[in-house]
Amino acid sequence: MTALDRARLVIDLDALAHNRAVLAAEAAGAEVAAVVKADGYGLGATPVARRLLAEGVTRFFVARLAEGEALRSALGRNATIYVLDGLLPGSADRLSASGLTPVLATPAQVAAAAGFPGSLAIQVDTGMHRQGLTLDDARRLAGAVEVDLVMSHLGSASEPRDARNAAQLELFRAARALFPAAKASLGASAGAFLGPDYRYDVVRGGISLYGGGPEDRPDPRLKAVATLTAPLLDVRNLQAGDRVSYGEVFTADRAMRVGIVGAGYADGIVRSAAGKARVWAGGRPRRLLAVNMDLSIIELDDAPASGAPVEILGENARLDDLAQAAGTVAHEILVRLSTRAERIYRGA
Ligand SMILES: *Cc1c(COP(=O)(O)O)cnc(C)c1O
Repeated sequence: MTALDRARLVIDLDALAHNRAVLAAEAAGAEVAAVVKADGYGLGATPVARRLLAEGVTRFFVARLAEGEALRSALGRNATIYVLDGLLPGSADRLSASGLTPVLATPAQVAAAAGFPGSLAIQVDTGMHRQGLTLDDARRLAGAVEVDLVMSHLGSASEPRDARNAAQLELFRAARALFPAAKASLGASAGAFLGPDYRYDVVRGGISLYGGGPEDRPDPRLKAVATLTAPLLDVRNLQAGDRVSYGEVFTADRAMRVGIVGAGYADGIVRSAAGKARVWAGGRPRRLLAVNMDLSIIELDDAPASGAPVEILGENARLDDLAQAAGTVAHEILVRLSTRAERIYRGA
């Protein structure tokens, strides 16, 4: 690796394509749709979706209307774009102008969809208690709208043995039967790995497309899409009792060497990962001791040459490990990556 003068975020679209193929193989026969909400999980909805379109993905999911409009401009007409917020008051004209498919999520949205000129999808709540019609409402309203896709979302799919999965599956069978002409979609990334019962017609790939394991831990089949590296700016010697960074963040318990890394929480390194996460420097994992706005501090012994890049996130410092160290999910780690680091796309 060459020396860096600032933090760099490499987004590897070949790895994204690889992960799509892994999901497709796992979902055997089901179509893989791509969830590209929140700017493609922070990695750039346009480059991500364009590459996935080239890989044969034709269905995309976003959360917000504005995300759908931007994605339509980026992709042209050859994709179905679902908006998970659904048909919110006042949004029908913009949805139909951009050819977006609202995912109806409440009885009020179903009522509002009566004259909607475009295609529709519907979400049924099978136990996550977040978004979607109750099964009772779905029964009552099933005849009122014609939908192309009926979907639900699993709340515990990253824990395959959780009994809630089977309970949600059972309710989804009933929900799905109410819309016999529609395609059905239950699983997101983790759901795609739950086996054939959970596949239905379409799996909604999100985090696993971007390299996150379906069970919230690194999955060797998936490649890192985002690699964040930063320069080692300095190496310093500490004596026992020396305190680095602010306040009580870290106190040396012995003489030691630390590295000062040129990236911090303003670059998306979640501050709560300090003390627990391992980053990669000089070919080895190193403890991340402190995360400040612009700088992070890591433990070193035989220091690599100053300027050698430190991998904070990537093929070695795995996304799921960083998420766990930070007490969060891989999704949040990715969407927090900021635009300060230089962005480089591979495989665009
Ligand atoms: C975000 C989201 C997904 C994707 O979930 P991942 O865990 O990232 O695979 C799928 N479906 C719905 C409804 C979502 O909100």
